[in-house]
Amino acid sequence: ELRSIMSLNGDPSGSYHEVDSFPEGYNYGDEDEVIGAVGGVENKPRILLMGLRRSGKSSIQKVVFHKLSPNETLFLESTSKVVKDDINNSSFVQFQVWDFPGQIDFFDPTFDSEQIFGSCGSLIFVIDAQDDYRQALIRLHQTLTKAFQVNQNIKFEVFIHKVDGLSDDRKWEAQRDIQTKATCDLADAGLDGLLRPSFYLTSIYDHSIFEAFSRVVQKLIPQLPTLENLLNILVSNCGLEKAFLFDVVSKIYIATDSSPVDMLSYELCCDMIDVVIDVSCIYGDDVEACAYDQQSASIIKLSNGVILYLREVNRFLALVCLIREEVFERQGLIEYNFHCFRESIQQVFEVRRKTQGPLTSLGSYSDDN
Ligand code: GDP
Repeated sequence: ELRSIMSLNGDPSGSYHEVDSFPEGYNYGDEDEVIGAVGGVENKPRILLMGLRRSGKSSIQKVVFHKLSPNETLFLESTSKVVKDDINNSSFVQFQVWDFPGQIDFFDPTFDSEQIFGSCGSLIFVIDAQDDYRQALIRLHQTLTKAFQVNQNIKFEVFIHKVDGLSDDRKWEAQRDIQTKATCDLADAGLDGLLRPSFYLTSIYDHSIFEAFSRVVQKLIPQLPTLENLLNILVSNCGLEKAFLFDVVSKIYIATDSSPVDMLSYELCCDMIDVVIDVSCIYGDDVEACAYDQQSASIIKLSNGVILYLREVNRFLALVCLIREEVFERQGLIEYNFHCFRESIQQVFEVRRKTQGPLTSLGSYSDDN
């Protein structure tokens, strides 16, 4: 059974709650394989999630990694205790949660920024686009410059968040405004060109948060070009429309072939994963059996002649592709190529395990002004 422990923000006792990150029946093989596949759980590079209080950090974390429905985030409270929490769950993405109470001044000299930023892979700064974001921009600038001083290798990401409440025009306007101001501030500090944050429009009420997280995580995967290459080969050999390599638990796609990503296809693939796992959990004939295992595969025919096809790759990853119905008839070809693809993926991660250790981890830092 794969469950994860995490602390809920605002818990006055500071105790840990167990939260099901996946349906209880979700299960897969023995635990050694988990550790093996991520190369151990020590020394994980971190993704820090930062931003002003109430910008949506905890909601993002819970929706992406814990299958919380967006409406349930309305009841999340703010952080009241420092919590550092390793989450070693069934996801391919290993992450670490850092929750800080608002009253701690992050820029206090006693605060160990070396430790916070030193091993950090990505820093995501969340800005609430529905609110007045002037204060957030000041804090963004302080945070970026401070983090850059400590670690120049951090990938800086800015989530312009809660855009579900904005019209399309206001969304683009907010993005342009935030991007221009942030870049100007960096130029004034003489850091333009050195420190180039990426900007994403996100919301937990649609797939944009998963899409953004996918792109953040992909930047941390050194084998990305190899994975893309393998997917390209698979797509061209089988005549697929599109292929994604998904982290099943978080629905982050860790790689895709080089044709452009259309949001609708991505959403369909995400929904397919949910359907497959849910149906497997509810209707699996053996209660003890796994909801996702080596046998996991699914075919969904859409009315427009396209087939959604899911296959297990390893305990974390699934291949989900879109195939035209007439192409899907060449089952033998697809089966053979998929087999080769699966073997190659295994080899890629075998090499990573031997040479590098784990992939990534996620931390959350919450501050208050
Ligand atoms: P934190 O203090 O940064 O961890 O913020 P929370 O995660 O507690 O979120 C604060 C509030 O913002 C909650 O009521 C969430 O329901 C809401 N929220 C988070 N993400 C979104 C979003 O994408 N859209 C909208 N409309 N509200 C959101």
